[in-house]
Amino acid sequence: MKILFVAGDPKPERWTVPIRQLVPDAEVYVWDPDGPAVDADYAIVWQPPAALFEREKNLKAVFNLGAGIDGLLKVPNLPRDLTVVRLEDAGMSAQMAEYVLHQLLEANREMETYREQQRQGVWKIHRPMKRSEWPVGVMGLGHIGKRVVRTLADLDYRVSGWARGEHSLEGVSTYAGPDQLGDFLKSTRVLVNTLPLTDETRGIIDYELLSQLQPGAVLINVGRGEHLVEEDLLRTLDEGRLLRASLDVFRKEPLPEGHPFWQRKEITITPHISARTLRDATLEQITGKIRDHAQGRSISGIVDTDRGY
Ligand code: NDP
Repeated sequence: MKILFVAGDPKPERWTVPIRQLVPDAEVYVWDPDGPAVDADYAIVWQPPAALFEREKNLKAVFNLGAGIDGLLKVPNLPRDLTVVRLEDAGMSAQMAEYVLHQLLEANREMETYREQQRQGVWKIHRPMKRSEWPVGVMGLGHIGKRVVRTLADLDYRVSGWARGEHSLEGVSTYAGPDQLGDFLKSTRVLVNTLPLTDETRGIIDYELLSQLQPGAVLINVGRGEHLVEEDLLRTLDEGRLLRASLDVFRKEPLPEGHPFWQRKEITITPHISARTLRDATLEQITGKIRDHAQGRSISGIVDTDRGY
């Protein structure tokens, strides 16, 4: 079996050494832009070049080194019938739940105010937070969204979730599809986005959507930058409809110098770190699936490329 590693890591051996240990009978190659075809059976990729699919004609499946496959689906000559497999959790959902909780607490526990008070040597207690005043709504109820919902529900927040299809989650109000989006937004003050980027979800967080949230709303975006219409976020902040936003993902990354978001104190910016790919868990999952696939067993995480996730 031949496995080709195609990700722009300057130290590919960090990946290929463990892959060889995990699949000892495989020949493992690193993508060489100028090299010949290796006739790979499987490719492990992150934002691969189009040349991969011109050169490697016998791929049985391609494994994406991330949960979001929007980058891979943009490659113009990705064969339509090729099996594409995304990363399923692999340690990301716990990180994401932590990140969302942290950003929520920044909003509702006045942490910035207490940090400022410490700088000034001030001991002053503010009004306690009431959970009932901070209903959370999570867009996307997949591996990540479900973990976020469960974490916050366990902490007694009022939580609702919105997805494409129907879901039933204990202690969580769930909404499905465009028809129920309005009711979901009406019940939400803190909006958390964990959607995949698809033709249906691009630009979904716009002025109209943000305006339907409860007063003093908060946005936490950990999905993709292109979900958000950035100008509309600024407008809702200017109009006081939105209290603050925590953004981990942006239309253009790195966020360009001089971008208006940098200067807004109501916006917390993090450089796409809400959930990092954990190498050990990732490789264990992917190599396990490669072994199963090679032996004709079914595997989970196959992307529906028409649906886009
Ligand atoms: P999943 O595929 O497991 O879940 C996707 C969820 O989104 C599903 O619940 C799905 O609904 C819902 N959904 C998809 N399209 C629509 C739609 N049009 N309307 C309503 N709901 C929709 O993905 P993951 O949870 O694993 O990951 C989600 C995304 O998180 C990734 O695609 C990626 O963009 C982002 N991400 C960001 C990271 C970061 O560091 N910032 C790290 C990892 C992921 P249904 O259940 O009905 O199918």
